[in-house]
Amino acid sequence: MSSSTKNEISFILNELGEEREMYFNAISPPIIQTSNFAFKKVDDLRKAFEDESECHKNTGYLYSRGMNPTVEILRKKLAALDGAEDCLVFNSGAAAIFAGVFANVKAGDHIVSVKAPYTWAQRLFEVILPKFGIETTYIDGTKIENWENATRKNTVMYYLESPNSWDFAMQDLKVVAHLAKEKNILTFIDNSYCTPLYQPVIEMGIDLAMQTATKYISGHSDTMGGVLSGSAAMIKKIFQSEYLNIGSGIQPFNAWLLIRGLRTLPTRLDRITKTTELVFHYLKKHSKIEKVIFPFDADFAQYELAKKQMSGACGLMTFILKTKKLEDIVGFCESLQHIMMAVSWGGHESLIIPKCAGMKIDEFNADNIEHRYIRLYVGLEEADYLIEDFEHAFNAIP
Ligand SMILES: *Cc1c(COP(=O)(O)O)cnc(C)c1O
Repeated sequence: MSSSTKNEISFILNELGEEREMYFNAISPPIIQTSNFAFKKVDDLRKAFEDESECHKNTGYLYSRGMNPTVEILRKKLAALDGAEDCLVFNSGAAAIFAGVFANVKAGDHIVSVKAPYTWAQRLFEVILPKFGIETTYIDGTKIENWENATRKNTVMYYLESPNSWDFAMQDLKVVAHLAKEKNILTFIDNSYCTPLYQPVIEMGIDLAMQTATKYISGHSDTMGGVLSGSAAMIKKIFQSEYLNIGSGIQPFNAWLLIRGLRTLPTRLDRITKTTELVFHYLKKHSKIEKVIFPFDADFAQYELAKKQMSGACGLMTFILKTKKLEDIVGFCESLQHIMMAVSWGGHESLIIPKCAGMKIDEFNADNIEHRYIRLYVGLEEADYLIEDFEHAFNAIP
């Protein structure tokens, strides 16, 4: 990342969107905790009804299901970080996925998606969209010819997630975006692992970029949120239908927490990147470990691509113990004393989650390596603190 870009990020996180003279020059913005806003003129109210997406710039805010001043500050910062014309901030990442996909498909359409995307994207493709006659084909997105081959006359969207948050499978973003443009197909990516700081996907030609704000942007495991960035026209279209209709926009207090989280986002990512590196090397050479999956490992299958399109990799990795026994995997996870067992990631606290927790005990098949996956998220603790904890848990298993 060039230093001018870094300066730009400092400006975005500390100043952009903050009109402090409007609120007593307070450094921290106010939480405008209101549902509605008053008008003095019928004509102004009429204009606000006519275009709710722009009214705050002209006649004033209307209703917080649409626009709210605290949320506006966050929107400006997140759109700028993504290098996008505009963005919307939702109450969760799942809501952002739902709105972004739903707004761009109609009955009879077809989607090509990477296999095993985030769970709630899968549910959308497998449970909800089929009710409206929309089909999805899953492909191994690592090979460009698979995108081409799965494309039909009625394909309207390529759904990407790069890297995947369990096995880190990646897509060559510029190449897929190029192919999609040739075929007039919309590209939608889940960019949650990298954030735009490590992977500026809009710049790479992707049309619609989603990231969960619950993870790295919040950074403190205390709020949820989701971001959808794209062209002004696309964001306006989604605002006027799905965003207002589902009513899944972020609440002012949660937006305020995300603004606070953003202040330290680059600092936290830097710190986590350094700690991850140390923990990765410790795990990789451990005698009880069979394999560690991490995109910036020179042994990773798509290492070249990772280095080409990501300026960093941090936090998440997946490892597999040599033992094939379920009871050992369980024993290992339950022996950790500081690293907690929980879903999610991106907060201050290191976390672990074993894949086997997501299946019934009799479904566990030790010969399927994926069933033995243990995903680690490295938080803000000292590397030695985490390594000592691992040492203890390794000693608890044969
Ligand atoms: C957590 C997550 C989401 C969903 O975000 P929520 O804020 O939990 O709704 C989407 N994609 C990935 C890769 C995630 O890890």
